[in-house]
Amino acid sequence: MNILEVKKICSELGIQPSKKLGQNFLVNEIVCCKIVDECIDDNISNIIEIGPGLGALTRDLINIDKPFSVIELDNKLAKYWQERGVEVEHIDALKFPWQEKIKEKTLVVSNLPYQISSSIVVELSLVPHVSKMVFMFQKEVAQRIKANKGGKDYGLLSIIAQSYWQITKLVDVPPRAFYPPPKIDSRVLVFQRLENTEFCNKDFINFVKLAFSHRRKLLSKNLKEYRDEMVVKNAFNRLGLNEKIRAEQLSVDEFQRLYLELKNEH
Ligand code: SAM
Repeated sequence: MNILEVKKICSELGIQPSKKLGQNFLVNEIVCCKIVDECIDDNISNIIEIGPGLGALTRDLINIDKPFSVIELDNKLAKYWQERGVEVEHIDALKFPWQEKIKEKTLVVSNLPYQISSSIVVELSLVPHVSKMVFMFQKEVAQRIKANKGGKDYGLLSIIAQSYWQITKLVDVPPRAFYPPPKIDSRVLVFQRLENTEFCNKDFINFVKLAFSHRRKLLSKNLKEYRDEMVVKNAFNRLGLNEKIRAEQLSVDEFQRLYLELKNEH
């Protein structure tokens, strides 16, 4: 979609792009094509788009030969797509019952509203049948997701995302690719689910969240709420971890090994 088409539909529908709903509509057709091409995938059974907006991606996604539906919070836009015969869930994507509804290999695609971007990655990580995601983020969120140990961006989101997904960068997107243009750069990432089911549970997420609950404290102190101090100390010894280590000093792999070591100890 180009900027003239977007402005035309906005005025026909009486839509003023809403900041609260993160409504920065994509107006760069090359970026749209790259995202849609990534959704043509024989290994998936159906496609869900979060936030179709005015249809920059939707108008091509509906032509892929797979069952397709959208989740849209905005009243006018939900109605707009319903009237065009698209299956619409008119609900906040964070309140959609993903676990209950997703029973087949599903690809979720979105130019994500920035307010929900980190939470949706965490939420969908725990839905085993979501096997692929193609998401546009604020560049700094994308950097946090892909960050490695030692860098300033590394933390909770990096460990959670990398524990469930193989993540690749698809394309960087400048502000002028949107209407209205945001103040920040964006980046599209592609997530392919890893086959490590031992982390596909809330307990692992809670463990990582507790590990980072007080960033200045030692990891062993933060984990006191997860397991008894001695149990944590013994696990550190068995894995050869320094007791004075902080959460952000542990690699994703070390985090996972520590979790598996502590999981069955009470
Ligand atoms: N896909 C369109 C595009 O690329 O131009 C629109 C993307 S716009 C960044 C975000 C879209 O998500 C808007 O349509 C907005 O109304 C919708 N949205 C915002 N918050 C939402 C939420 N919590 N759940 C579902 N949709 C939401």
